[in-house]
Amino acid sequence: MRAASITRIFRATLLGVAAGVTLPIASSAQLAPGEQQVIAAVDANRDAALALLERVVNINSGSGNHDGVRAVGAIFGAQLDALGFTTQWLDGAAWGRAGHLVAEHPGPGPKLLLIGHLDTVFEADSPFQRFERLNDSTARGPGIIDMKGGDVILIEALRALQATGRLESMHVVVVLTGDEEDSGRPLSRSKGALREAARGAAAAIGLENGAGDPRTAVTVRRGATTWILRTGGTAGHASQVFRADIGTGAVYEAARILATFYDELAGEEFLAFSPGLIAGGSEVDLSAALTEASVAGKTNVIAREVVVTGDMRTISPEQLERTQRRMRDIVARHLPHTTATIEFADGYPPLAPSRGNERLRELYHRVSVDLGTGPVASVDPSRAGAADVAFVAGIVPMIIDGIGLSGTDDHSASETADLRMLPVQTKRLALLLLRLTTMPESLAP
Ligand SMILES: [Zn+2]
Repeated sequence: MRAASITRIFRATLLGVAAGVTLPIASSAQLAPGEQQVIAAVDANRDAALALLERVVNINSGSGNHDGVRAVGAIFGAQLDALGFTTQWLDGAAWGRAGHLVAEHPGPGPKLLLIGHLDTVFEADSPFQRFERLNDSTARGPGIIDMKGGDVILIEALRALQATGRLESMHVVVVLTGDEEDSGRPLSRSKGALREAARGAAAAIGLENGAGDPRTAVTVRRGATTWILRTGGTAGHASQVFRADIGTGAVYEAARILATFYDELAGEEFLAFSPGLIAGGSEVDLSAALTEASVAGKTNVIAREVVVTGDMRTISPEQLERTQRRMRDIVARHLPHTTATIEFADGYPPLAPSRGNERLRELYHRVSVDLGTGPVASVDPSRAGAADVAFVAGIVPMIIDGIGLSGTDDHSASETADLRMLPVQTKRLALLLLRLTTMPESLAP
């Protein structure tokens, strides 16, 4: 898809929401009788849903705490077993993490993929470990919105559909990954189950907390890639620099490349690239984690080597490939007697804008309006981070994310959930799944 049409699709969705709207929590009469029953089932299980959230938040499941990740997976697995799913724990030894929970409920309806994650950024040695109720409407806890709240919404929506006999006709696959916050490598392995589960799905729904705002959903995410630039020069005494047989040295070559990246590539919409670390001199040693470098040199030498590491964000595979190609071209225009290479690491792909994603957001928006809980617009992609859902882009025609539990300050010790949204967002998800199953015309062609 071309950049211009991407922008057009995205812009159109932003117009859907007026600023400063307060979200009404009242129920509405826009629902079919069958839908009203599902809503009533969500309400009937409100206290149990909150208790489940408290229980899973109180189990540490930092990505590196494999026992904790498996323990949270076992709790959700038991819930899904009870709802008639076939559940399976995929061991993550091959990618160095705990593993993933995969569950399937067969049915005649279109295949719908629900995506969550079991891990959090809070490891076992973090001081932030417990669920804490702050008042009637809020609670704080590690991973409460990112994303155990979203996982509970997923389970509770399915429970309400099961309790009202609606799940029977539905084909739902659930993948709760154990390493979203710190993905195992290679990504082809750690994300393989997710991509496998996505095959043949009509829609994929991610229950991340997104922007934390129930008036928004994520339909576009930028991908993230790491790059490493290395330059080399002919070492020598500084007094001889620029001589025809010696050239400029590695530092000038690195400076040329970075300045040209800036001159020729900066400013394109949704494209970000930033050198985060640079080291250059006579000898450079970069750590395997790319977070430290040691360097030796002198004032009166011509530098032999430079290493630069950086990050790049792109909105579409097309923007990623085009930018990589242009960077490689720039790198290849060497200054005299220098060398340079750029490598791009295994990255998170973008969730590019698409009509299918937009259509799924419209359906979700319609559900919310019918429930009396207000409009839902797309989040500005420059504010949406990378997430698992991007790995099914290009496989599933309709994708939405960021419709998990609302709140603030994820990835910090102030991570807080808006508990009033737990039943609201559960109802929205349950009705979205129901309409996707019972209204085939709602599916993208
Ligand atoms: Zn998350």
